Amino acid sequence: MKIAVVGSGIGGLASAILLQRKGHQVTVYEKNSCPGGKMGQINMDGYRFDTGPSLFTLPELVDELFELCNEQEAERLPYVRLSNNCRYFYPDGTEFNFYQDREALYSEIERVFPHDAAAVRKRLLHAEEVYNLSAPVFLFSAFHKLSNYLTEPYRHMVFKLHKLDFFRTMHGANAKDFTDPRLIQLFDRYATYNGSSPFRAPATLNMIAHLENNKGAFFPVKGMYSIANSLYDLALKQGVKFEFNTRVEEIIRNGAAVSGIRTASGITSVDAVVSDVDVRSVANHLLKHPLKRIINKIERSSSALIFYWGINRSFPRLDVHNILFSSDYREEFRHLFKEKSLSADPTVYLFISSKIVPDDAPAGCENWFVMVNAPSDCGQAWDKLIAEARENILHKIDKMLGVDIGSCIVTERIASPLTIARDTFSANGALYGTSSNSLLAAFLRHPNTLPGIKNLYFVGGSVHPGGGIPLCIASAKIVSNEIPDAL
Ligand code: FAD
Repeated sequence: MKIAVVGSGIGGLASAILLQRKGHQVTVYEKNSCPGGKMGQINMDGYRFDTGPSLFTLPELVDELFELCNEQEAERLPYVRLSNNCRYFYPDGTEFNFYQDREALYSEIERVFPHDAAAVRKRLLHAEEVYNLSAPVFLFSAFHKLSNYLTEPYRHMVFKLHKLDFFRTMHGANAKDFTDPRLIQLFDRYATYNGSSPFRAPATLNMIAHLENNKGAFFPVKGMYSIANSLYDLALKQGVKFEFNTRVEEIIRNGAAVSGIRTASGITSVDAVVSDVDVRSVANHLLKHPLKRIINKIERSSSALIFYWGINRSFPRLDVHNILFSSDYREEFRHLFKEKSLSADPTVYLFISSKIVPDDAPAGCENWFVMVNAPSDCGQAWDKLIAEARENILHKIDKMLGVDIGSCIVTERIASPLTIARDTFSANGALYGTSSNSLLAAFLRHPNTLPGIKNLYFVGGSVHPGGGIPLCIASAKIVSNEIPDAL
């Protein structure tokens, strides 16, 4: 079959590899000049920055793509396991390291959160159990396919539904399980991994902690963008064709099937279309979508404000991933999802890839990716919000490090919900499509197919099973299983 993949984000790249491997002729149409979508990079003034994802979990899903294509070890994506998942800084001066080594972790917990040591052990075990129970159903299969409901993982899960903790919020469960408010805040933060609020998202999502803290946090030795680059190279090697700088303007539908795509150069007939485009953008711009009204009503996930700062010195006190917590998390999420604004004291995420990839910054310097969660775009006065956030962030970092950070910035670029929407066509600049701020939103994302249109498929972070690198690859696997091998 001749298949058009629209978009070269992680979901699009993985789909192209899997489908070409099945013997189809795949062409990827990408409006930008390079692959990767939200996984991008910037080179400026001797610094390199990953612009999007920074945390790499479940790397075996990337390995699997290379294995499937019979690539030898030396040809695969090289990555390392981090020894410290994240260094946390609290307003009261506490510092806490979430080490991967269990012994180191538990002595760190005894040092900082002695009263909750047993509860943390219990939580990590529980997160693993919930993940093992629910992942085969919610993450790695076509949740919307009725025939799946008769399979063993579904039946197994049905008998243990009570373990999934659907009816409490993440925060509700954390506040019950831990006594120290700082630890509650730490575990609440996992809601932001899919752009949601811990005060509304179901406690099932506390299993996210399992990925980072049990399975492990990893980092590609050439930086995050090398994930997209290596998948692009792998796709080329399999024979996938790429048309860059080519925006798809319409997915052409003929009754119960799609028949082609329209770009500036005309109509190309195809046998199937795999869309890696945010499904809200598809519904509004590319296709007469029967669910458009519903899709437009579902709450968007959060977005982000990111400052890429070239820093002219290094800070041994910081690690690769650092979190500077706010003093009032509830207030922060009220601003994000209710006021659609930013609080004056945001939690700041500080990611420094040059700690692992020295070439990412000049000698003795560091590349800082400084991010705060932001609401998705709904017409806010972004220039004002960005200027205020910049001041608040600088003030917070200055206070924590005791240094005037503004004077160390030698080069700067800024990303906002507006630039994310412009660069990736992610509606409203949302990072993860829809939020998971309710039971239904968390488990009923847009399916990977559309009833009534037989040869149109959806992959990527805005559809089932969700956002983030591993889930985008999972969506590609689901779609590839739906499309039969070429004869
Ligand atoms: P996208 O990346 O959304 O790409 C879609 C592609 O389609 C784009 O290249 C776009 O140009 C193209 N396109 C759109 N419309 C058209 C059209 N009409 N014609 C042609 N081309 C089109 N995930 C993690 O796992 N860990 C993290 O730490 C993490 N942090 C993140 C931080 C930020 C700032 C962001 C933005 C995202 C983060 N994510 C993280 C999420 C992760 O990056 C995304 O879930 C994932 O990369 C999305 O991939 P996708 O397949 O949905 O495609």
